[in-house]
Amino acid sequence: MVFENIKKRLGLVAKDLDLSDKELNLLLNHKRVSSAELDVNGKKYSAWRIVHNNSLGPGKGGIRYHPNVSEEEVKALSFWMSLKNSLAGLPYGGGKGGIKVNPKELDEKEIETLSRAYVKAFSDVLGQDIDIPAPDVYTNPQIMAFMLDEFEKIKGKHEPGMITGKPIELQGIKLREDATSAGGFIVLKELLKTIGKSNVTVAVQGFGNAGMFVAKMLFAEGNKVVAVSDSKGGIFDNKGLNVDEVVKVKKEKRTVVEHVSEKISNEQLLELDVDVLVLAALENQITEKNADNIKAKYVLELANGPVTFEADQILHKKDIVVIPDILANSGGVTASYFEWCQNRTGNILDENYLKEKLEFMMKSAFNKVYDLFNKSDFDMRQAAYIIAIKRILNAEKLRGNLN
Ligand code: NAD
Repeated sequence: MVFENIKKRLGLVAKDLDLSDKELNLLLNHKRVSSAELDVNGKKYSAWRIVHNNSLGPGKGGIRYHPNVSEEEVKALSFWMSLKNSLAGLPYGGGKGGIKVNPKELDEKEIETLSRAYVKAFSDVLGQDIDIPAPDVYTNPQIMAFMLDEFEKIKGKHEPGMITGKPIELQGIKLREDATSAGGFIVLKELLKTIGKSNVTVAVQGFGNAGMFVAKMLFAEGNKVVAVSDSKGGIFDNKGLNVDEVVKVKKEKRTVVEHVSEKISNEQLLELDVDVLVLAALENQITEKNADNIKAKYVLELANGPVTFEADQILHKKDIVVIPDILANSGGVTASYFEWCQNRTGNILDENYLKEKLEFMMKSAFNKVYDLFNKSDFDMRQAAYIIAIKRILNAEKLRGNLN
């Protein structure tokens, strides 16, 4: 279903940019699809590493551990990475990986074995100049560390730039941990600035890496976060939640629903009457079934693909502004790029300098998209896709691949 959404959106872009069949086919197809069956104590897990496009540079994108991972999903996620990296002005193509597994059913040792097996299976198609993974849903810096170690053992040399989102001790950077949220927060504030609004009410779906940090940032600046949720359900407080307390509960009890506040379902959270709805869980959360009930005025997509093609049309008609995933969550890969630069050059850059650079890059990506959005009938996603796709196709043309 996710790739179907992409095809429909690409149809619109093809019309607006008057794309040739060759150009459209290039965008619809993937440059490299690698798959494997991984073995952990006799149990088999399907795994993929896929590069959608590499005209701007090596593949770049996270690895997801989730029971719903499929080849189609990884293809969609790698497509979005191509566009995200292009829009952010990074020297990367788009890649993504995944393992079809419920990591909650594995112990720590099994997760390590699975992560090492992944690198063994794909070591020929990974590398700092080939394709560079990072964390995504249910993967983390420790998993990146196991993967780096396995890769370096296979290759017999150090190559920290083969993976990002690493622990600091293994040449990661501090900025990476909350960079996705920081980037999303920067673009949200830029949008609110254009309409002269500050101090908003917010609901956040998904309280993992992306959702938790953005909720903390919004709370710290005096916004009212009235609801948050995770896979077990949501909590609500009309007067605003104390997000720092919710974080404590999540860390201790592993879910936000153990917090004392009123319980709500994830479906109810999406339909709350708030200024800003932050989507930070998974794909296909707003569909044609619930799009009409959305009351938020702004939607920030920290997750990839949380709004379907049909839902996009409904929200646009209702004048709800969606800050699209390829813009809203590109802070993570931008910080990954800083980490990769440091790993490759050995040059350690000051954290404050990197924070400023992240802010500058997020704002310039936002301004490019907002300018086109503002002077056209496009929704923000169409504007972002047009800018990103033009850069990729220009690179392909210069390489002579579209003659
Ligand atoms: P994570 O594993 O840290 O957190 C995911 C969260 O979503 C968890 O709290 C989980 O309980 C919750 N969740 C799962 N199913 C849910 C449901 N049905 N309803 C509500 N909550 C649900 O993952 P993450 O890194 O925060 O990623 C979240 C999204 O952000 C994904 O779409 C991911 O691709 C995207 N993203 C993350 C990064 C990053 O740097 N972390 C970068 C770009 C995009």
